[in-house]
Amino acid sequence: MVDAHCHLNYPKYENDLDEVVKRAKEKGVGKIINVGTSLEYSKIAVELSEKYENMYAIVGIHPHDSGNVNGNWEKDLETLIKTPKVIGIGEIGLDYFAHNDVDSKIQKGVFEKQIEIAFKNKMPIQIHSRKAADDILDILSNYKSYFLNPPGMFHCMAGNLEYLKKILDLGFYVGFDGNITYKGLAPGEDTSLEELVKYTPLDRIITETDAPWLTPEPYRGSRNEPSYVIITAESIAKIKGITFDEVNNTTTKNAETLFNI
Ligand SMILES: [Zn+2]
Ligand SMILES: [Zn+2]
Repeated sequence: MVDAHCHLNYPKYENDLDEVVKRAKEKGVGKIINVGTSLEYSKIAVELSEKYENMYAIVGIHPHDSGNVNGNWEKDLETLIKTPKVIGIGEIGLDYFAHNDVDSKIQKGVFEKQIEIAFKNKMPIQIHSRKAADDILDILSNYKSYFLNPPGMFHCMAGNLEYLKKILDLGFYVGFDGNITYKGLAPGEDTSLEELVKYTPLDRIITETDAPWLTPEPYRGSRNEPSYVIITAESIAKIKGITFDEVNNTTTKNAETLFNI
């Protein structure tokens, strides 16, 4: 199994990272992808990928951090992606829900630049999207002729079925997290995650945790970690009425194919 999106590069793991990594391995999580949200955290993700054999790095600027970039950020990002275990650009995108404090024009500009850097360097993108479906689809359709095959994945999928269908039509994989175990609708959403999991074909699903956030039940409220990605896979199996092994085998293959790991 792969945890295709987590943040072990955050200070919350400073004191017990070796233990967290060991627990993941014991549970059968063979590969862990740490994701940057700023240049600073991207650098730490790269350092971890050099230290731990089973870790990879995705580097980029989160929409929330897109208002803080300095004049050299594009060059710095291009330098970072030359590191051998950097496998994608993320988490990039638009967030008009939790992070509507950053002007949408600024978010869009930083998102577009990173799409250009990614495809120019033959890297898939990992997209963060909240309440910004129309603008995300607009921007992606402008870059369609530059898409890799496959172009990337949407991490922590949320939205309605119409949006999901368009994402799948564009060729993207879709990531699900521990919040699929939560009851009821997520704040600001009108479609349940269970419905989205049901609709997404297994051969397009990728498992992730977004640790330290989105801890699955029954551990909700405590710090999340990659070993809990197993719970999300079990939940996907239950929702789809298939075996855990099917979910494990197919989602692992999906992540390995997309990120070439
Ligand atoms: Zn995110
Ligand atoms: Zn994240």
